[in-house]
Amino acid sequence: MLRLAIQKSGRLHDGSLKILRECGIAVSNGNSQLRVVAENFPLEIYFLRDDDIPEYVQDGVADIGIVGENVLLEKNKKASVITKLGFGKCRLSIAIPKSETDESLEGKRIATSYPFVLSGYLQKENISCTIHEISGSVEITPKIGLAYAICDLVSTGSTLFRNELKEITTILHSEAVLIAGALKVEKQMILDRLLFRIQAVKRARNNKYVLLNAPNNKLEKICGLLPGMKSPTILPLAKPGWSSVHSVIGEDDFWNVIEQLKEAGAEGILIVPIEKMIA
Ligand code: ATP
Ligand code: ZN
Repeated sequence: MLRLAIQKSGRLHDGSLKILRECGIAVSNGNSQLRVVAENFPLEIYFLRDDDIPEYVQDGVADIGIVGENVLLEKNKKASVITKLGFGKCRLSIAIPKSETDESLEGKRIATSYPFVLSGYLQKENISCTIHEISGSVEITPKIGLAYAICDLVSTGSTLFRNELKEITTILHSEAVLIAGALKVEKQMILDRLLFRIQAVKRARNNKYVLLNAPNNKLEKICGLLPGMKSPTILPLAKPGWSSVHSVIGEDDFWNVIEQLKEAGAEGILIVPIEKMIA
């Protein structure tokens, strides 16, 4: 059985269970349990603090884990990133009080829960600062005179805003990742099966199925906008001179493509979520 460590509670907990469920792996919530066994896949799930996951994976207590890249880099343990998971997105940024006009950090004091990542950044940029390590509520330290700046995780920026801080530099972009240590062949085979499902779920999340109607003389232009998995499907409509076109569009460029399709003469455009997408 493959042992997977995920966050017991916090920002990555729900997303981690959600991706497993979308992979068709039935897991109970673990609210009171430290360990559950999946019902229909050779997977055992450990619920832990995210900070401990890289070390447990390195030491082989767990085979694989789900953590933020920020935690993985900070803990600096031997565990490799198998794949990014597309949730838990945030950035590690340096912020200073909104009222400050001097953005130079040289010689200043910075409060953070990420001393290792921060010192790496400062070294690379040739800036010398005093790093004040603190385990939580980093955002209040400038106000109480404990630090000039902070280095903390940001997603929407509302915490910074509430504390009258402004972001001056981003030092890391992060999202949840699947990590693994060295695995024996049998465990690697289970991981490969899991990974196959994860890729199908990720691909599906990043794509939409599109159906539209178009006059036949506009098909060439429309199909040029829709690469699809191989190429679009074209089916004749009962109305002569018209066809129905089916294809797949990526999430990134989605609205752009829709606008271009309309301009090219597409009508009755339907967009449908994809449940799984196998390459
Ligand atoms: P634990 O109790 O497991 O130690 P925690 O308090 O350290 O939890 P959370 O705040 O739940 O951690 O955050 C877990 C991870 O979620 C972070 O390490 C980061 O990768 C990600 N994350 C995404 N957005 C944010 C955000 N706005 N603030 C903090 N973390 C975020
Ligand atoms: Zn933590």
